[in-house]
Amino acid sequence: MNDETRTRTALLGSSSDAATRVFTTILTRSPISRIDVAKLTGLSQAAVTKAVAPLVAAGLVNDSRDPKPTGLPGRPVSPVALVPDAVVALGVKVNADELIGVATDLTTRIITSDRLPLTSHEPAEVTDAIVELCTRLRDELGGLGSRLACIGVAVSGDVDTATGVVRDSAQMSWLGVDLGAALTERLGTRIVIENDVRALTIGEHWFGVGLGTSSFAIVTVGRGIGSGLHLNGEVVEGAYGVAGEIGHLPLTSPDRICACGRRGCVEAVAATNAIVATVSAAHGRPVGVDEVVELGRSGDPAAVGAFAEAGSVIGKAIASLVNMVGPELVIIGGEGVANFDLIEAPLRASYAEHVFASADRCRIVVRPHTFEDWARGAAASAIRSLVV
Ligand SMILES: [Zn+2]
Repeated sequence: MNDETRTRTALLGSSSDAATRVFTTILTRSPISRIDVAKLTGLSQAAVTKAVAPLVAAGLVNDSRDPKPTGLPGRPVSPVALVPDAVVALGVKVNADELIGVATDLTTRIITSDRLPLTSHEPAEVTDAIVELCTRLRDELGGLGSRLACIGVAVSGDVDTATGVVRDSAQMSWLGVDLGAALTERLGTRIVIENDVRALTIGEHWFGVGLGTSSFAIVTVGRGIGSGLHLNGEVVEGAYGVAGEIGHLPLTSPDRICACGRRGCVEAVAATNAIVATVSAAHGRPVGVDEVVELGRSGDPAAVGAFAEAGSVIGKAIASLVNMVGPELVIIGGEGVANFDLIEAPLRASYAEHVFASADRCRIVVRPHTFEDWARGAAASAIRSLVV
């Protein structure tokens, strides 16, 4: 990090509440007129001008003093625009078999991306791999590498973001792994460890379809079934870092055993591995994921049934979530969306059956997320930590 970047990140971290609101508004809606910043933040134009001045001085924001006529009498529009690459961030998504990394600007636009296979789940080896991937990404940034201000790492499971400790990740078989401390020591940059679905939620809130909605939920389908909640303008973290674990709602038969060890969880029938296990058992041989999808599309009864059961229980889980917290939007994402055609009809039918009264006004949109999108979410978490 060079001195200029240090000044910029220090400014973002020390800002007043008003300055933070002004910066996040410019960050998510740039270019934007001061009048609109004032409207969206509820601040006076004088307060907006005061908050913008140090951001301009630090090179984070461009202040266009070339006012465009509005066509109306009175004050001209004076737009302010983010300097997106004033600061850059890295985001890493930790999967069981691979790390996916991106380098982004302040708006989480991906500048470069890279992947690294994981050959072990030993925390020390995973730490080494994350360091290697981050070093590679920083090198790929060339001159922009000196503007690296923060790195976000997204891990599935129970993550304590405040301390950087992964308390429990079934995917990695980790209990109490202090990943934050290990990476801070090695990389010498601000490190944010975040639950992966929460990271995706933060990314969608600031830079995705969640922008402009006060309450939305993301439900991810695929290797795991998770959800991230954004309610009344805040990402829900839960008092103990656990919130939105809809994959472990007990909505299916207790005969079904989940990877978490409990019985009857949504994931016990709806996670990709569970679907694969059901189809393999029916065929009396191990069937791979791709073949399970092919079988489903070609009408194989076992595969069709397994996907239908998964869709039905996911629909029930989403209805439970909507009935509980009443979001205006649910985004269904995750890598399992690639096979959404196989689960959509039973999902929507079961959702419609269980959603209560006006809660059914909640819109449901499907958004395919690549693993790079998850990594972008990790970068967004790190950028957010600079600002709020
Ligand atoms: Zn479970």
